Amino acid sequence: MRGALRKGLLLQRLFVRSGPPGARGKEGVPFMLTDWELIEAAREARKNAYCPYSGFAVGAALLARSGRVYRGANCENVSFGGTICAERAALAAALTAGERRFLTLAVAAGDAPVAPCGLCRQMLAEFGELRILRAAAQGDEYRETTLSTLLPEAFTAYRPDEREPADKEKGGRGPYEQAR
Ligand SMILES: [Zn+2]
Repeated sequence: MRGALRKGLLLQRLFVRSGPPGARGKEGVPFMLTDWELIEAAREARKNAYCPYSGFAVGAALLARSGRVYRGANCENVSFGGTICAERAALAAALTAGERRFLTLAVAAGDAPVAPCGLCRQMLAEFGELRILRAAAQGDEYRETTLSTLLPEAFTAYRPDEREPADKEKGGRGPYEQAR
C-alpha cells in the first residue's frame, strides 16, 4: 500500500504544471506544482550556492515539460570568468538529463526579486519561450515575466532566415516558437 502511494505521488510529480496558487489548467485540473513550490525549490537550491567571492547566493529551479524540476545554484571560481550562474547550472542539469523543452524558471536571490543576467537569458533563449518567476531570497512577493520580454529580438539561430529547430530530434521548434 505504501509502495502504491509512493508510486502515485511520483506519477503526480511527473505531470505537474506550474501556475499561480489555486489556479487551474486548461482541463480544469488544479496545477499540482504552484509557482510558489517552484520558487521554494529555487530557494532550497540557493542554500548550496558556492559564492565565497561575491557572497551573493542565487538559486534557480527549472520546470521542464516532462514535469521534472532541475535545480541550480551559482558556482563561483577564483578565476571569476569561470563562474557559472544558478540559471545556467539548472539548465545544464536539465540538458544533461535529456530535457529540451521547458515551461517555467524560478530564480531566487537577494533582498528584492532578481533577474537572470544577459548571458543566462541568451542560453535559455536557445530553447524557446519561458515563464520566469523572479523572487527575493525571502518574502512572499514575486514577479512574473517571460524570456521574450527580458530578451527581445534575441539572436536565436546561426542562419536566422532558415529558423533551424534547436533540436529536431527532440521536437524543438526553435527559440520563442515553442508550443506551450
Ligand atoms: Zn546569469
